[in-house]
Amino acid sequence: MSTSKPAGPNAAAATDKSEKKPHISDTPITWSNWYQHVNWMNVYFIGFLPLAGVVATIWTPLRFYTFCWSIFYYFCTGLGITAGYHRLWAHKSYSASFPLELFLALCGGGAVEGSIRWWSRDHRAHHRYTDTNKDPYSVRKGLLYSHLGWMVMKQNPKRIGRTDITDLNENSIVVWQHRHYVWVALGMGIIFPSVVAGLLWDDWVGGLVYAGICRIFFVQQATFCVNSLAHWLGDQPFDDRNSPRDHVVTALVTLGEGYHNFHHEFPSDYRNAIQWWQYDPTKWFIWTMKQLGLAHNLKQFRSNEIEKGRVQQLQKKLDQTRAKLDWGTPLEQLPVMEWDDYVEQAKAGRALIAVAGVVHDLSGFINDHPGGRALILSGVGKDATGMFNGGVYNHSNAAHNLLSTLRVGVIRGGMEVEIWKRAHSSDGTLKDGTVLKDEMGNRIIRAGNQVTKLPEPVQGAGAA
Ligand SMILES: [Zn+2]
Ligand SMILES: [Zn+2]
Repeated sequence: MSTSKPAGPNAAAATDKSEKKPHISDTPITWSNWYQHVNWMNVYFIGFLPLAGVVATIWTPLRFYTFCWSIFYYFCTGLGITAGYHRLWAHKSYSASFPLELFLALCGGGAVEGSIRWWSRDHRAHHRYTDTNKDPYSVRKGLLYSHLGWMVMKQNPKRIGRTDITDLNENSIVVWQHRHYVWVALGMGIIFPSVVAGLLWDDWVGGLVYAGICRIFFVQQATFCVNSLAHWLGDQPFDDRNSPRDHVVTALVTLGEGYHNFHHEFPSDYRNAIQWWQYDPTKWFIWTMKQLGLAHNLKQFRSNEIEKGRVQQLQKKLDQTRAKLDWGTPLEQLPVMEWDDYVEQAKAGRALIAVAGVVHDLSGFINDHPGGRALILSGVGKDATGMFNGGVYNHSNAAHNLLSTLRVGVIRGGMEVEIWKRAHSSDGTLKDGTVLKDEMGNRIIRAGNQVTKLPEPVQGAGAA
């Protein structure tokens, strides 16, 4: 069909002849030239034809057998694209026997989305240059563009990123299908579904309208969603630097191609969904073909590799969440106080408490203290390290976290800070006095590792 036009030999020849003239897609759209920007052949195949089919349903009764046949043939042609065009030819995620290749080439042709050769070349460019100007259907140009616009509007074939398709040029079925594409599309898209319904239950027109034209419309829109919806809706559990996303709705619409974040990370894996309960009928189809001896060499990434990607992305999300929290002023940014100065300020009425060599101002917290006001007051102006760490009450990790947000200074020569540094250099939190930081440069404080926390609790008399 026409979708192969922009990249076809005719288009290339036309470009050569008018080398100096810019490609129409590189000129601005005006009232006088807009119709030249439109790829009318594609508009016919993905616009007018389906519309005509929808209109024809008004006076074409839908018979039960034809309905069932339309659904069945929808899955056949859909799998032609997903299991054939996509996972077999574009990504080589498994090997197929001759009968399976022929079945997929014919059914895929019946989806009327261009030849295998053209489709796979663009798809390889899409993976290699995702979200860039060389991506033939970059979602960065808009959701509608990635869904339909890239086919409706003419594209400069020279803009699309180059990819290697020598393997496809050496595949006799791919070459044959490309050469006779118009006949394959017409035969498998329109004539075959009509003939089946006509010969078996005498519903030629119903077969043409429902199993032919309307089914083409649904299969096209469903598979176009891989380029649009799968780059727009859902989560990014493996990498969020590009647009591909995972979502069950996209999977339901696209015969399992909806786990697209995974797919862009592991494109040569024959699966899109890696959990058994996720909807991926294309994977189930390929697996079944393997059991029947028609497919082999199913490629699969080790779960160790998959989990590494997932953990790294989780870590990134965690770092972003951590960066939003108040962890208190970093120790090195706190002013250094003399011990006498600290005692004097406390005497003057400021509710300062030193724990592990760090001075905290509890003025705003004193009335909210779960252990009561009196206990805090008993520690003001003193070294409350022992009291805080079990001498009176062995405070929780949450209490240490809260305390850290109230710190206002460090005691000069504060021995506890030095002790803490030494104690923590052995367990990986601190090495040679350096602090463990995330990739954004923010300090990581693990539970129980606040500077105010002593490695061993002080044994005290009673608790508050
Ligand atoms: Zn994609
Ligand atoms: Zn792909």
